[in-house]
Amino acid sequence: MEQASPIIQVKNLVKRYGNFEAVKGISFEVHAGEIFGLLGPNGAGKSTTLEIIETLREKTEGKIMVDGMDLDNYPNEIKKIIGVQLQTSGYYPGLNLTQLIDLFAGLYNRKVDPGTLLDSVNLRDKAKALYKQLSGGQKQRFSIATTLINQPKIIFLDEPTTGLDPQARRNLWDLVLDIRSKGTTVIITTHYMDEAEFLCDRVAIIDSGKIIALNTPNGLIDQLVSTGFEREREVKKANLEDVFIHMTGKHLREA
Ligand code: ADP
Ligand code: MG
Repeated sequence: MEQASPIIQVKNLVKRYGNFEAVKGISFEVHAGEIFGLLGPNGAGKSTTLEIIETLREKTEGKIMVDGMDLDNYPNEIKKIIGVQLQTSGYYPGLNLTQLIDLFAGLYNRKVDPGTLLDSVNLRDKAKALYKQLSGGQKQRFSIATTLINQPKIIFLDEPTTGLDPQARRNLWDLVLDIRSKGTTVIITTHYMDEAEFLCDRVAIIDSGKIIALNTPNGLIDQLVSTGFEREREVKKANLEDVFIHMTGKHLREA
């Protein structure tokens, strides 16, 4: 990963909402082909940062390059190569999943086979279902499918697993790995540290609008351990999540 070229460069990004500085001059790069995590407490500035890169929000200061294009000069070209989760309010309630994909493909001016796309997120049997009829995990998978319609180089996932049951969460991890294996760069936010440790090549930790750490998950753990930190010894060989998965199995429920 060290030699990979940056597909996103953020330099001294500042975002002020009135007098309040939500993002305080952050800089980072995302490498092509990596899964990059933005971690941080609620209100840290993760969504603001993502939405600015996605061209959905105005920045106050700073410079952003996406795939070699300056966001100030090429917002429309950048939109064509990124995949963004659309607001669910855009999911017209009367349309089924196939019809929604056709609609979004039309907006992107792309020809997409809805069946193939639904297959890629394991939803082909829901082709005729309405969005509101889907389980939480299915909704998230559909939302991720909509980010793939324009065959983007980069997709942005803002808390895609929040509120999902353990099986659906793991199923989504597989989907994210699958998308990355096809060469797509993934930027993801999550509050689940096990998820970030499992999925992300590198993570930035943001707190109150500042990046306070940026490294591989292992690098960050090694840094902490090198300070003498030791977790209280785990006396049990399993945890409650192990019990849950052991008892309910790994297969996905979507009743
Ligand atoms: P995160 O995604 O890390 O939880 P956000 O980027 O959503 O954080 O928000 C960062 C900070 O900016 C928060 O304090 C939030 O209240 C504030 N904020 C976000 N959007 C707006 C807005 N449109 N107007 C004013 N303040 C906002
Ligand atoms: Mg957020």
